[in-house]
Amino acid sequence: MFNEERHFDQPIRWAMVGGGRGSQIGYSHRNAAQRDGLFKLVAGAFDLDPARCRDFGENLGLDGDRCYANYKEMFEQEAQREDGIQAVSIATPNSTHYEICKAALEANLHVVCEKPITFTTEEAEELKTIAAQNNRVIGVMYGYSGFPMVQQAREMVQRGDLGEVRVINMQFAHGFHNEEYELNDPGLKWRVSPEVSGPTYVLGDIGTHAFYLCEVMTGLEVDRLSCMRQSFIKSRTPLEDNAHVMMEFKGGAVGTLWASAVNAGSMHQQKIRIVGSKASLEWWDEQPNQLRYEIQGEPPRILERGMGYLHQDAPGVAANRVGGGHAEGYFESWANLYHRFALAFDAADRDDQAALADIWFPGIDAGIEGVRLCEKCVESADQNAAWVDYE
Ligand code: NAD
Repeated sequence: MFNEERHFDQPIRWAMVGGGRGSQIGYSHRNAAQRDGLFKLVAGAFDLDPARCRDFGENLGLDGDRCYANYKEMFEQEAQREDGIQAVSIATPNSTHYEICKAALEANLHVVCEKPITFTTEEAEELKTIAAQNNRVIGVMYGYSGFPMVQQAREMVQRGDLGEVRVINMQFAHGFHNEEYELNDPGLKWRVSPEVSGPTYVLGDIGTHAFYLCEVMTGLEVDRLSCMRQSFIKSRTPLEDNAHVMMEFKGGAVGTLWASAVNAGSMHQQKIRIVGSKASLEWWDEQPNQLRYEIQGEPPRILERGMGYLHQDAPGVAANRVGGGHAEGYFESWANLYHRFALAFDAADRDDQAALADIWFPGIDAGIEGVRLCEKCVESADQNAAWVDYE
């Protein structure tokens, strides 16, 4: 069970780029990072508008002088201070991640970056190299992977509870953008603009989440894939608001991924079903405290978070903040990840590479694979859904 006891002498001095007033995801970062007292927000370049950044930062309780007009100024000025920032989270639109992340690593900061982390795998690989050279850690905000029942599924697959994995069904298919809402919604407008969003819309925005859950739960690697993508709202072309991907995994398993923003009537529908030779597992992010476990020939079981029959000693399974039966959710999953990011940053600072290697968290490799998924899907879709090798 988590509690707020102190782990470090002082919390990690932390800043944000982006995530300003009115942003979709800024609060989630601040809430999660500061939940266990391991990070303390001391500075920010929260907004493209410097006056709004300062006003917002002061309203969060920051010193106005540490609310910066842009990230370059923040990294430069904070480096001059004895109590300067040690880590930064990047929650800006996609096109800026690469340059901000690179600048942060070069300023010797640990980074938490939003997904998709870059536009190309080359850029993401470059970030990995710089991080390794500077002994810095990159966490990538695949926020659903901190749920204890996701970690329970991973452990069950690894222990062979399902038998041999045969089929994986992934989907993240909401209905919020079934009409041209971007005309009045700047947060959606940039998502359907290739120069800001990158080579994909729904594949990168939400498909990467479901795909990462598959990576976490099964550990399988894609061998080749075929992707069909389209926009039902024509003005979004060339980006897609709907995509279907077929995958063959190394070792013989097969899978599908459905990413959509036009699944009218649906809230999230982020579900993953793993079918093995003996049994299947299904997890749904709208009911994250439960994991459905179906053994062939037996009645289905609903496993519940916080219960003694789970694999409590596996990483992340016992990451409870309240006992079973109470509903934990999205914010707890994020907080679990930020907790791990903090431990990883601290291990790197102490140059304890063994401890660092022992801490499970979505890092730069997870970021690279999300970018690769987008690249390969575009490559396939551009050739009329041809099968393309994943490597
Ligand atoms: P948004 O448009 O709602 O907010 C972006 C914020 O960044 C705004 O405050 C804006 O002023 C600021 N900003 C933009 N450019 C900036 C710059 N160069 N410097 C400083 N601030 C800048 O966007 P959002 O929906 O919050 O998405 C931000 C990122 O988070 C995207 O990469 C998105 O894919 C990701 N995201 C991730 C999740 C998740 O579950 N992990 C969920 C939503 C969004």
